[in-house]
Amino acid sequence: MTDVIHLLPDHVANQIAAGEVVQRPASVIKELLENAIDAGGTNIKILVKEAGKTLIQITDNGKGMSTTDARLCFERHATSKINSAEDLFSLKTKGFRGEALASIAAIAHVELKTRQQDEEVGTCIKIEGSEVISQEVCVTPAGTTICVKNLFYNIPARRNFLKSDTVELRHIIDEFQRVALAHPNIQFSLLHNGSELFQLPDTNFRQRIVNIFGGKTNEKLVPVEENTAIVKIHGFVGKPEFAKKGRGEQFFFVNDRFIKSPYLNHAVTAAFEGLLKDKAYPSYFLYLDVDPKSIDINIHPTKTEIKFDDEHALYTILRSAIKHSLGQFNVAPVLDFDR
Ligand code: ADP
Ligand code: MG
Repeated sequence: MTDVIHLLPDHVANQIAAGEVVQRPASVIKELLENAIDAGGTNIKILVKEAGKTLIQITDNGKGMSTTDARLCFERHATSKINSAEDLFSLKTKGFRGEALASIAAIAHVELKTRQQDEEVGTCIKIEGSEVISQEVCVTPAGTTICVKNLFYNIPARRNFLKSDTVELRHIIDEFQRVALAHPNIQFSLLHNGSELFQLPDTNFRQRIVNIFGGKTNEKLVPVEENTAIVKIHGFVGKPEFAKKGRGEQFFFVNDRFIKSPYLNHAVTAAFEGLLKDKAYPSYFLYLDVDPKSIDINIHPTKTEIKFDDEHALYTILRSAIKHSLGQFNVAPVLDFDR
């Protein structure tokens, strides 16, 4: 008999997992932003060079990590966010898989500086391709700074697959906006190659939308609000006359997490029935709060898809809430005299 099975070394397993979690620089931004938010950061700064291909740096003023945790956070399945599988049904955090940092450290040069609020000094650790290069005591502000350089340096095929800086930056801005829209009470800034793309002060939902999409957005927003036993909805839909040809500003957030849902999108479109011209898409910024027990977000590593217990009820409630709002704000049907 010959045995042929062996366990893969950690750095190989991490590199394989990284393929799922990190598609492009924007995926790194998403994961690091989520960690900064889970750590309780109220001021989060992002610095990016060459669309994240050479540098992504995120600084938060959150709770920081201990010396041991600063090392452990790069291990696969290392997380402070859940203890048991049951915790998956009462999730309050964005992360829980304990995979992001291990994945990122497997395919980039990473430097972490972190200090807990009540400590005098912090820890600085450097990792390349899952291997710790150095770890030392350092002076650093309370909170965490993670620097990710030379993404995919050891996977040339992935690196070559990256699109132009313009395209990759567009993906970064999309991720940034999704996170920023979900958390208007957190200050965010985004710098690319030294120029400031966003500087967002701490504010309310409406003002955050306006700060991101421009002053003219304000007059276009119709508030939506509904409270039921299975879902609380708040947010805005764009007035039908401002609906655009392409799918632009369409955002669903479930429990503060951006999600994609063709089914709920259909509910919104149904609420606009008769109000839109052909091929126009309504814009919307809709925030749904549901009992974490009634959803499953663990169906995909990037967590942008969710399974709802009662999708049909959500559909009906959402459609009627929007119809009601559009009616209240005297949005009249489009009268198309050409026909
Ligand atoms: P997950 O977020 O799923 O737990 P990650 O690999 O993203 O997995 O992070 C691992 C752990 O590292 C987190 O559970 C958290 O304890 C710690 N961590 C990561 N980023 C930060 C941060 N910015 N501030 C404080 N702790 C952090
Ligand atoms: Mg995480």
